[in-house]
Amino acid sequence: MDTVKKKYLAGCHCKKVLFEFVSQIKVKLIKCNCTICKPLRYLHLIIPHEDFKLISNKKNIKSYQFGTKKAKHFFCKFCGIKSFYQPRSHQNAFSINYNSVENPPKISQIIKFDGSNFEKNLDFIKSI
Ligand SMILES: [Zn+2]
Repeated sequence: MDTVKKKYLAGCHCKKVLFEFVSQIKVKLIKCNCTICKPLRYLHLIIPHEDFKLISNKKNIKSYQFGTKKAKHFFCKFCGIKSFYQPRSHQNAFSINYNSVENPPKISQIIKFDGSNFEKNLDFIKSI
């Protein structure tokens, strides 16, 4: 059943950034080809802010911003891993890196997003 939800745990390599979130057990992911996502092989799982809970100290997180500064790229201050961030496209949600989730939900679909032409494709990504 598509409406079944479960709690998941995710975080960085050294576990100084840890969070829980609630999600359906089958999820759609977004694969982006921009100059931040591509080198990291980041797989986006969009989770509304209200379904997300940081359980580690927020002082362990550093952020990086550029351009319009509507996105906040979060990194663990200690190990450098980006396990989630605030995307520009979904201001009411976080994007979680699917690859940092323990016992992750099943994947129903991977949607390719041409983030290297972000401005042109912003409406498309907002609709996902
Ligand atoms: Zn870390």
